[in-house]
Amino acid sequence: MKLREKKLFILIAGGGILALVAVAWLVWYLISPRLNELYPGLPEIVGAAALLAAFVITIGLFVIALSAMTGRRILFSQRITGTVMRVLFPPVLMLAALMRMEKDRVKRSFIAVNNALVMAGQDSIRGGKLLLLLPHCLQATDCPHKITGGLIDNCRGCGRCVIAGLLSLANEFGLPLVVATGGTLARRVIVEERPVGIIAVACEMDLTSGIRDSYPLPVYGVLNERPHGPCRDTTVALDMVRDAMRLFAGDDAGVQERETGTNETGTP
Ligand code: SF4
Repeated sequence: MKLREKKLFILIAGGGILALVAVAWLVWYLISPRLNELYPGLPEIVGAAALLAAFVITIGLFVIALSAMTGRRILFSQRITGTVMRVLFPPVLMLAALMRMEKDRVKRSFIAVNNALVMAGQDSIRGGKLLLLLPHCLQATDCPHKITGGLIDNCRGCGRCVIAGLLSLANEFGLPLVVATGGTLARRVIVEERPVGIIAVACEMDLTSGIRDSYPLPVYGVLNERPHGPCRDTTVALDMVRDAMRLFAGDDAGVQERETGTNETGTP
């Protein structure tokens, strides 16, 4: 993942924290006399609590930025960075909307930062059970075979959709593969399979919500491609899924640096 893709989320989050601190200070300044009337010393207590919260989130973002940019695990647990990412995501999206930025662009940046953090902490995943989680829309709409849930073996490997290629990749790397029809089934599969990490293919919306819902479980997101519009006959660049599997397997030699959602030919 290239630097500029990750930078967007971090820059908006940094700007958002600064703006929030400025607004919080203004509010605190305006209501301080009233707070003091309620209880002498209350303004200082409220101010100190707000400062502490801002400090913790700023440090969290700093550690996330450093880890995502350097690709090294820097004094963090997935639980802490996950909490900070989860807290930061809604205000970042709101700020981006105020700046009239394309939502999906910000979500792609969030996914890129998340992926960098997952890779930075991959030592805790390597060797453990991984799961390849796919959306139903990757299957050809006119395919008569039911492959959702635990029925992936029903795929005949005819090659009319990308499921055949993903299945052979999963077999090559020894990963269980599950096609989920939605968030509820995906959550059930995660509970049943108990993986230490997930490689998930989906659109920007499903990936960001899936990643946030699954924290602290590491989810490496690969964006699908939608040549026929959303949720219908989608596909995915197999080289990106293979790269993710190779990175988790510790075989990163020859893995090309790609931006989230972009395959070797540069097709978005
Ligand atoms: S590759 Fe599998 S899922 Fe896709 S159309 Fe063929 S049989 Fe159906």
